[in-house]
Amino acid sequence: MPSNSLVSKSFSLSKYGIKKAAVHYQLSPQELHQISINKNMGVETDSGALAVNTGEFTGRSPQDRFIVKDNVTKDKVWWGNINIPFAEDKFDALYHKMITYLAEKELYVRDAYACADQDYRLNIRVINEFPWSNMFAYNMFLRPEEEELENFQEDWLIVNAPGFHANPDKDGTRQHNFAILNFSKRIALIGGTGYTGEIKKGIFSALNFILPVAKNVLPMHCSANVGEEGDTSIFFGLSGTGKTTLSADPNRKLIGDDEHGWTPDNKVFNFEGGCYAKVINLSEEIEPAIYKAIKPGAILENVIVNEQGKVDFKNVSITQNTRVSYPIDHIDHIQIPSVGENTKNIFFLTADAFGVLPPISKLNPGQAAYHFISGYTAKVAGTEEGITEPVPSFSACFGAPFMPLHPTKYAEMLSSKMKASGVNVWLVNTGWTGGPYGTGSRMKLTYTRAMITAAMKGDLNEVGYHTHPVFGLEMPKECPQVPKEVLNPKSTWENEEAYHKKAHLLASFFNDNFKKYEDNANDEILKGGPVV
Ligand code: ATP
Ligand code: MN
Repeated sequence: MPSNSLVSKSFSLSKYGIKKAAVHYQLSPQELHQISINKNMGVETDSGALAVNTGEFTGRSPQDRFIVKDNVTKDKVWWGNINIPFAEDKFDALYHKMITYLAEKELYVRDAYACADQDYRLNIRVINEFPWSNMFAYNMFLRPEEEELENFQEDWLIVNAPGFHANPDKDGTRQHNFAILNFSKRIALIGGTGYTGEIKKGIFSALNFILPVAKNVLPMHCSANVGEEGDTSIFFGLSGTGKTTLSADPNRKLIGDDEHGWTPDNKVFNFEGGCYAKVINLSEEIEPAIYKAIKPGAILENVIVNEQGKVDFKNVSITQNTRVSYPIDHIDHIQIPSVGENTKNIFFLTADAFGVLPPISKLNPGQAAYHFISGYTAKVAGTEEGITEPVPSFSACFGAPFMPLHPTKYAEMLSSKMKASGVNVWLVNTGWTGGPYGTGSRMKLTYTRAMITAAMKGDLNEVGYHTHPVFGLEMPKECPQVPKEVLNPKSTWENEEAYHKKAHLLASFFNDNFKKYEDNANDEILKGGPVV
């Protein structure tokens, strides 16, 4: 373990215009943990993790995510309410305002990188106002060796000042918080929010532009792991669908839990060096790998900790989006380096709160493209407002908020990779069974795991399939360790008629959403949608 001294090397930020700040460069996580506690910014839990509150924001703020519109981006980015343009001169002015704000503070600087495949490595320098945000950068980005720091040149700079508030009228932001990417200057400005996820998703968004355009690499919002025979599995899905949970599989080595690239020579590599798991209702019994990762070095966010340091994972009084970040080596079974070959199975995870989609089904190439472009999951309405109907949520490529290019660009790349590698594609509903949210219940994690394991082992190859009457999906008739009736959603509902009505309702949501892509989709893809 590195020393616990709080003395840091002298390090100058004057080239960025930050002259007087007291700079802590490349502190160890132990040091940052201790400083956070000394400054009353966090507490230590009984398992030795640091617990912090991120403040006003406990999740990302997609409406405040901007991209500078300039010569590099103007013709390439898919502008709209996901990729919101920001003026060059406004960016420069805001940058200087932030630098002035930071100039006399105590700052934390870290050099790190993204992309575990060294061919695509992106060096990152992070300047943080808060020690725990810098510790987050240590956990989530890849960690260079000591000798790599000597002549470290950053490809991207992140300036992160949660305490800085923008003035929307003058600065061109929507409100006081913002995350702005500048592809010409290669700078990400994050201000007014302490939510750490903005830091990692900022670089993810940058890579989602850089990699396909310059390197022909498909960036993916997915987790990935590798089996004993060297076969790689990829799990796409929107937030809360199970990427992190399902990729932590005791029988497979983890490549990563959230952001990956698929190279022209068929490798899948992690962009990150750590995991960022949801901890709502976490239990040691059901999710042992994640539970055990919460030890010294881990940072818990927005959880409730009692006087004895015990964490109440059921308490959502701050937010439902309670989280923990940790370096990937807090998980026992990991692939080193975080690169896999031979992709055999792709899973699209969806948490269907309508209880309509089968718990597992096999997709043909047209259906795979259709579901990838649709990117469906559902949000369950807040219980406090007494809303009982789930809300469908469509997010192209299972990650539209992070995709600067038009979704069809990523979809075309995925289609050609799928065809070239002959992967199996599965749609997995980790959401509701036995009825919609409110009547049914969430799919048992043990069943979902058993279905995924069976698919990967080839146990679903010979079982025979039913075709779903509305969605046209192929549903296996049997699966080891899973009761037969669970496999066909209709038979888990009390009333068949009600099931069919709901299935048609969900199909109509899919159809409405897909209208905007119809002009770009070929016949094969159009046939991949609901059949009635
Ligand atoms: P994000 O993109 O926000 O990181 P994610 O896709 O990684 O989201 P997870 O962190 O894995 O999502 O969250 C899935 C949550 O759903 C976990 O809290 C998990 O315990 C819970 N869950 C309940 N049932 C299932 C199931 N059948 N399959 C997967 N997850 C389940
Ligand atoms: Mn995750």
